[in-house]
Amino acid sequence: MMSKKHKNIPIFVPHIGCPNDCSFCNQKKITGVTEAVTPEEVDRIISEAVALVSSDTEVEVAFFGGSFTGIEKNYRNSLLTVAKKYVDLKKVQGIRLSTRPDYIDDEILNELKSFGVTDIELGVQSMDDEVLAKNRRGHTAQQTKNAAKLIKEYNFRLGLQMMPGLFGDTKEKTFETAKSIIKLEPDCVRIYPTIVIRGTWLHELFISGKYIPLTTDEAVEICAELVPLFLEKNIKIIRMGLMATDVINEGKEVLAGPFHPSFGELVESEILFKKAREMLKGKTGDAVFTVNPKTVSAFIGNKKKNIKRLSEIAGGKIKVCQNENYGRKEVTVVVS
Ligand code: SF4
Repeated sequence: MMSKKHKNIPIFVPHIGCPNDCSFCNQKKITGVTEAVTPEEVDRIISEAVALVSSDTEVEVAFFGGSFTGIEKNYRNSLLTVAKKYVDLKKVQGIRLSTRPDYIDDEILNELKSFGVTDIELGVQSMDDEVLAKNRRGHTAQQTKNAAKLIKEYNFRLGLQMMPGLFGDTKEKTFETAKSIIKLEPDCVRIYPTIVIRGTWLHELFISGKYIPLTTDEAVEICAELVPLFLEKNIKIIRMGLMATDVINEGKEVLAGPFHPSFGELVESEILFKKAREMLKGKTGDAVFTVNPKTVSAFIGNKKKNIKRLSEIAGGKIKVCQNENYGRKEVTVVVS
């Protein structure tokens, strides 16, 4: 049986009045600039989106942007009521939202269940208490563990988000965070390498030279090593790097750090390079690689980066052939 296509209907809910002041977030600065979405607008957004999807598509309403369970209860419930109407009409198959680990408890989870919420994503960011404190997150790694456990006990699907490259983070701490996240058995993860947004505390630290963000190359390298850790445990990676539209919608102005509109493709390209390099071990001469047509551009790399690097390693010419019978991650090599 063919698996269904998937569509998210994103609805940006700013956390107006958020009492926290995370180092990377400009929510305080954009409050007043960003209007809170109304239930009527949510209704319009969902009805327009569901009218356009075909019957072979599974649709989810996704409330994102802030800490959904931290916003005022009546307002939050008014938005959920609209989303639930579409769930009841079977026009929408799920409701997902993102929030902070310290905004999860039994009462909240019961409330979310009653509105048909299916997926909860937690902004974990780091599982290192020192990194969390340095970035003024206002919660501990233990609170994340407790929240993740409770979400699973209530049978929600669990998503966890991490931010490599925060103030005080190291490569070692990033990998420890990934390992701790894996232990929490999420259904999916998002990896957002830290970027510097105007008006944030990280921005101030960056200007004073106390904070140096990851370069795009470093972030790609780190993610290329993180990806296999999650995939081998069957944890889906649903996003790497912020989308250009996230940045625009959320009023973010990126000043520094590893922001790239095709960040995910850069990581895929690096993973394929590592695989190809492995295959060349002990071989020299011209080489012909065969990959799926959809993988070709990632295999070749930005500005033919991978071809150049592989050619240097092999000491010969590199040719790339396509075979649509190959899986997306499949690569073979013949060296002459
Ligand atoms: S990241 Fe979330 S919790 Fe932190 S300041 Fe921004 S809105 Fe508040």
